[in-house]
Amino acid sequence: MAYKFQPQFMTNEELWQAVLAQIQFHLSKANFSTWFRNTKIVSKKNNEITVSVPNAFSKEWLEKKYNNLILKVLRTIDKKIRRINYIVKTKEPELKVKTKTKLSKEEEKIKTSQLKLENFKINQKTNLNPKYTFDNFIVGGFNELARAAAWAISENPGMVYNPLFIYGGVGLGKTHLLEATGNRILKRNQKANIQYIPSDRFISSIVQSIQNHTIEDFKGKLRKLDVLIVDDIQFFSGKEKTQEVFFHIFNELYEKNKQIILSSDKPPKAIPALEERLRSRFEGGMIADIGLPDIETRIAILKSKCGENNINLPQEVLEYIATNIQKNIRELEGALNRIITFERINNITPDLKTTKKLLRNLIASPSRITSWKKILQTVSDFYNLKSNTLLEKSRRKEIVKARQIAMYLAREELKESYPSIGRKFAQKDHTTVMYACKKISQQLDVDDNLVTELNLIKQRIYNILI
Ligand code: ADP
Ligand code: MG
Repeated sequence: MAYKFQPQFMTNEELWQAVLAQIQFHLSKANFSTWFRNTKIVSKKNNEITVSVPNAFSKEWLEKKYNNLILKVLRTIDKKIRRINYIVKTKEPELKVKTKTKLSKEEEKIKTSQLKLENFKINQKTNLNPKYTFDNFIVGGFNELARAAAWAISENPGMVYNPLFIYGGVGLGKTHLLEATGNRILKRNQKANIQYIPSDRFISSIVQSIQNHTIEDFKGKLRKLDVLIVDDIQFFSGKEKTQEVFFHIFNELYEKNKQIILSSDKPPKAIPALEERLRSRFEGGMIADIGLPDIETRIAILKSKCGENNINLPQEVLEYIATNIQKNIRELEGALNRIITFERINNITPDLKTTKKLLRNLIASPSRITSWKKILQTVSDFYNLKSNTLLEKSRRKEIVKARQIAMYLAREELKESYPSIGRKFAQKDHTTVMYACKKISQQLDVDDNLVTELNLIKQRIYNILI
């Protein structure tokens, strides 16, 4: 039997769930929930899909920024779809399911077996998503320090480590842990005044409140908090006004023993363009990193997600996924969601062969493939520089360092010759490149921070989807 998605049997809701299941691992959590919360397919006619969105702002973003991605994903499920229309629906549209007399057997089957997806019941007051808990956070050597610190804080907020600063690569559980901590504090003390704020929202709130002259209100709200959680604080890099406002809020909360919890994709030392006074505040509490999960933990995570979805997959399927997706738990979940969607739609438990087929375009060849462009882009993003500046002749200290790292990676990861690397960097002489590679390699022996930075950069270079 041919294993294929059978879109004709899917309800609009299931189709949209299958789309969201894939889209969520192309975007950051914050972006995903900002733009896809409260969206749904309201109709599917003549190969056109109509998606309702909660407001005009979302409509514009989805049309401009995400239409191609949504269409691409939709077409992996149903090739016939040609176009998506977006309409604004402020109220939850009523579901009109009663028009059909009787559901076919096939449709019944699908209706009763729904893929458990992101739930969007975000707490309006705290902005915490209750789905993130300590119970569903799997612990292994790679994250146990961060987990233990977060747990201790949830027992006694403000009294143990302040701030708690968690850092690690993309998709490794930082947001999960931050939110789980907030949720547990709230559970133990319903009156606790907690706010979970992704840093991009923090920044845009500041920009807006400056424009509207309401910055004092904004600060006033934050001052009253018992727990302030800011996710992905690396985005504060270079945002001077935000850093200034945050510094004052931080001090006020800190002096009152109010808990501050932060996350970042790199340690405070490695965040570029961050004021020294903030950096030293971040370093004044507890810093815990999350590394890469080992194979046993990856399998345990898959099993736990299967449990949540009431699904049983053969061990060899779990092992295949866990062996091939190593660096990102979000991707691990994405792969699993694909398998679960398949099983729900076809009502067949996929075997290893089908799994390989379903995950073919998710799992890159086991040899680590990257490109010069990817290295350049990743290094410059990491240090918050424009990629062109690395190729120019500037002698600014931070640019020189980033440039040397890019040269080192081109040599190590792509095995390029020194002259060929030199040509890429404004015709630099091959001895310059040799010097750079030697320097970085010597520094790696003595500078632990550089080792961490390089590991984080490599993780990003080899992340398949993000
Ligand atoms: P990050 O914020 O570091 O990019 P997330 O916290 O968003 O990563 O994690 C990505 C996905 O992986 C989430 O769906 C999260 O629930 C899941 N996840 C991460 N770490 C764990 C873990 N230790 N146990 C179970 N699920 C995890
Ligand atoms: Mg996150």
